[in-house]
Amino acid sequence: MTLRLHDTATRTVRDFLPLTPGKAGLYLCGATVQAPPHIGHIRSGVSFDICVRWLKVSGLDVTFCRNVTDIDDKILRTASAEGSPWWAVAERNQRAFTRAYDVLGCLPPDVEPRATGHVPEMITLIRRLIESGHAYPAGGDVYFDISSYDRYGALSGQRPEHMRAADDIEGENAKRDPRDFALWKGHKPGEPSWETPWGRGRPGWHLECSAMATKYLGATFDIHGGGLDLLFPHHENEVAQSRAAGDGFARYWVHNGLVRLGGEKMSKSLGNSLLVDAMVTQVRPVELRYYLGQAHYRSDIEYSMEALAEAAAAYRRIESFVVRAAEGAGTATDPTPLTALPLASSLPDAFVAAMDDDLAVPQALAVVHEAVTEGNTALAAGDQAGAAKHADSVRAMLAVLGLDPLAAPWANAGDSGLRDVVEALVSVALHQREAARARKDYAAADAIRNQLHAAGIVVEDTPAGPRWELAR
Ligand SMILES: [Zn+2]
Repeated sequence: MTLRLHDTATRTVRDFLPLTPGKAGLYLCGATVQAPPHIGHIRSGVSFDICVRWLKVSGLDVTFCRNVTDIDDKILRTASAEGSPWWAVAERNQRAFTRAYDVLGCLPPDVEPRATGHVPEMITLIRRLIESGHAYPAGGDVYFDISSYDRYGALSGQRPEHMRAADDIEGENAKRDPRDFALWKGHKPGEPSWETPWGRGRPGWHLECSAMATKYLGATFDIHGGGLDLLFPHHENEVAQSRAAGDGFARYWVHNGLVRLGGEKMSKSLGNSLLVDAMVTQVRPVELRYYLGQAHYRSDIEYSMEALAEAAAAYRRIESFVVRAAEGAGTATDPTPLTALPLASSLPDAFVAAMDDDLAVPQALAVVHEAVTEGNTALAAGDQAGAAKHADSVRAMLAVLGLDPLAAPWANAGDSGLRDVVEALVSVALHQREAARARKDYAAADAIRNQLHAAGIVVEDTPAGPRWELAR
């Protein structure tokens, strides 16, 4: 085990040593379901999907917990603006997130807890914090007392005296310190609420994640993940309340970079055209996954259509080699399941070294592209066995990144059995074209090829005979 990860808490890349040998627990802040996801939201899902896959390939038994925040100021605002119940807004957008994770080939988490299903665990955590002097009820709310925890600010690297006031405007008069944050928000008319020893109300966002992470992964667990935009105040507050209560909490903090648009963090208004549901009608989902996953997870991505098109072209080059090599070897059918992962021993050393070095996907992809170049050389030389060997290696590496074109969900994507029918029809046409050429009727042969092209089928003549693929 030589995996090294960048830990935001120490600001260093350090050896990943799991709490329990052979196991890894990972908590990822998932969706706040006030709107459907744009690519800025879903990048974190793809980044941590690659992380989970690599932990598994490294031989670890992974427990992956990704939550859903289904109660929140923004959800309540959306619901009241559109005149819908808050729970209907949450359900609808949770389905959109699930659709987006699925369409991009992310492995489902082992557990996907919703905040509103964990109020008893939150009440217990609040009680522990009040009893230990770290929290106080005030004006119907309950606040965390930041002065009671001397490491407050350490995770995000800030000194409390430079921090802004917590975003709980309603408690301005009740709080002891403007930077104290709400664990629990007192009931307001028209809002959902739950009964607690401190009165009716609803949970604060930060408290939810602490309660859910420790319920499923234990008081101390390995990795807490999320987008860099969550570092402060969300993660700072999570670690403060959990450690103050006596839990060890996360041992490594891993943050992904953001997707930017025109130099800005993607917002709802900027990102509407980049909703995942809309984008997968413009580009193939596997190409969108390649685009979001190809950069180092800690780098920001500056979105542009040109960069997306370049990523798609790079992926098609890899895919085209894998498909050709499989056709040559007669192994193009029977897709591998989404959950099938290769053994680390079947991967090139340079690929393993790149992934172990803080999940360096750009370097890992360089190894993939090199193998594709060598494989194409073998194909051009008619060396089927050599090409097949490179194709096996490329497919194993792609499986780690969730990009194997011959694995689910990408293999035969969207054709639901029609590919076999098209294959049969195209081969009838290609036989007629061969027959026309044999009798030197080149006009008829070209007409058949042109008719196929008009139907969206590109024919290419190779030393092994004509092959076809759908035009893109
Ligand atoms: Zn969270």
